[in-house]
Amino acid sequence: MRRTKIVATLGPATDAPGVLEQLFYAGIDVVRLNFSHGSAQDHIDRANTVRALSKKTGRRVGILADLQGPKIRIARFADKKVWLDEGQDFALDINLDENAGDNTQVGITYEALVNEVKEGSRLLLDDGRVVLDVVNVVDGRIHCTVIVGGDLSNNKGINLLGGGLSAAALTDKDKEDIITIGKIKADFVAVSFPRCADDLHLARKLLADVDCYAGIVAKVERAEAMEAMDEIILASDVIMVARGDLGVEIGDANLPAAQKRLIKRSRQLDRAVITATQMMESMIDNPIPTRAEVFDVANAVLDGTDAIMLSAETAAGKYPVKTVEAMVRICMQTDQQHGASVSKHRVNQRFNRVDEAIAMAAMYLANHTDIQGLVALTESGSTPLWMSRIKSGLPIFAFSGHEETLGKVTLYRGVIPIYYELKDQDHVQLNREIIELLKKFNYAETGDTFIITKGDLTGQQGGTNALKVVTVGEGLIPA
Ligand code: PEP
Repeated sequence: MRRTKIVATLGPATDAPGVLEQLFYAGIDVVRLNFSHGSAQDHIDRANTVRALSKKTGRRVGILADLQGPKIRIARFADKKVWLDEGQDFALDINLDENAGDNTQVGITYEALVNEVKEGSRLLLDDGRVVLDVVNVVDGRIHCTVIVGGDLSNNKGINLLGGGLSAAALTDKDKEDIITIGKIKADFVAVSFPRCADDLHLARKLLADVDCYAGIVAKVERAEAMEAMDEIILASDVIMVARGDLGVEIGDANLPAAQKRLIKRSRQLDRAVITATQMMESMIDNPIPTRAEVFDVANAVLDGTDAIMLSAETAAGKYPVKTVEAMVRICMQTDQQHGASVSKHRVNQRFNRVDEAIAMAAMYLANHTDIQGLVALTESGSTPLWMSRIKSGLPIFAFSGHEETLGKVTLYRGVIPIYYELKDQDHVQLNREIIELLKKFNYAETGDTFIITKGDLTGQQGGTNALKVVTVGEGLIPA
């Protein structure tokens, strides 16, 4: 059974007839609606298709809406693109007509940039493919020398090496998109370029205003966010290691260490984590991954990521289904490696909450005896989240009657969502029903032993106070 989750970005390639359904069968766990592209209606239509396919296939797939954020971009060229030579002069000009760029200058829409760079600042365009050093700034015009030349086309992104741009994390477009996301009722909302906890608190508040209680994903892609790591992790529900922009801001050589620190710290602070960007980049055009990509996916799994994300590979690539199949293959093998399934998490720690202590005790028991899986009866999803912070080879079944909770656990490593409505049943009947459902979905057979965690069956959050061990086929299962 695969534990690491796969997030697939939707786009024109997955809109082609039948492709999304094939991705469901290939094994995607969460889809990403990228609000940097497409209209509100495109996202609503895609979300509806995802929900319909979840019903049709019986495979619950979560929805992550990713806000565009303040991506800073150059404007456009009269001839759509230009070539820049190393050593030549090139200017970014806030006063230039937005369509009048040529190979000496181009417009910019982010006017504050002129106050935020100085002589010697290094600007990275198009994810660092083109590099400019600032010579001086005069009357809204940033004069630069081209350090690394190449093709430069319309609307490419600009990053400042080392970070420090002041643009607010939530733009007017993001605020409008939040209204659409409220209609979609996404399970997760990703905030792009947050600098501090307040950016995430604001997103949570704006979403609550439209009655949306999605998990907040902080995309760590600014140098400042690495410095404010704990504050950002604690203000969010999920961290995304957004390696594209982050690599440009902190330098690519610093990325591997940053990824490892972010994953480790997120797990320590009970947050889930997604590793994103260029994981299978070559599969945009090729049917098999490079060896380096196989290692990249496997290393993220060994680092302890909950999920790995595909961007253009599924949204616009030639082989979206083959890409997901390749990821599944690599995760299945790597999930079984010793480093991915043995945990030292919290062995010497005290717990303040009974429900958290029960989750930890259940994992300790499961990992040290002959247990085939864990069942967490959950209202909020906290118990399966805590459980999945512990490395293990065992499946964690999140039984819940709340759609929002089931949507959230789609992202957690090793957690399988199962709809289960708690009625007035007593504990014996409950244990039996749980085992029957596990058998029905082929997760259990006679002789298997499971741990069930539960509360007093009142339907209250935070009420887990019991841990029960049951063996399938032993007749009456006492409370
Ligand atoms: C990234 O920069 O790595 C990222 C995931 O963000 P986006 O794809 O929105 O640029």
